[in-house]
Amino acid sequence: MVIIMEEIKEHIASAAIWKLMEEIYDPEVPVISIIDLGIIRDVKINNDTIEVFITPTYSGCPAMDVISMNIRMVLLQNGFTKIKITQQLSPAWTTDWMTQNGKEKLKAYGIAPPVGKSFDKKYLEELKVECPLCHSQNTSLISQFGSTACKALYKCNDCLEPFDYFKCH
Ligand SMILES: [Zn+2]
Repeated sequence: MVIIMEEIKEHIASAAIWKLMEEIYDPEVPVISIIDLGIIRDVKINNDTIEVFITPTYSGCPAMDVISMNIRMVLLQNGFTKIKITQQLSPAWTTDWMTQNGKEKLKAYGIAPPVGKSFDKKYLEELKVECPLCHSQNTSLISQFGSTACKALYKCNDCLEPFDYFKCH
């Protein structure tokens, strides 16, 4: 009976932790949560210790330290005191793990979401990236690197606005 109660408690705590993380946003794209980004791999509860496994969007991504700190802060504020954050580097994160909801939010924010799947070995030049502002497909690549290494800079040939494209990887 005691064991069952413990399991139920852990289950409730785990669901609560996942829910809390829906309110932690990517510091680089403040409209998309870390759940939408697909970087939270697992939450494990061992006695009183909460272990959160995160996979960085690319190795050495500077946003990861901020994200880890924010997870720790939110958990502390909600009464979880023993927190361990583990970076899980393998398998590597891919844009395929981003939720549909996350892609919609990216677009609404003015960043073109990744097109296709990470295993499509298309070159950026061949990609049809839709302008998030006017939805034109008449766009061209300006630079492989936009405001951060995960993004490329595009320009719309119709509305003439430059925009970031979240690259597939
Ligand atoms: Zn446009």
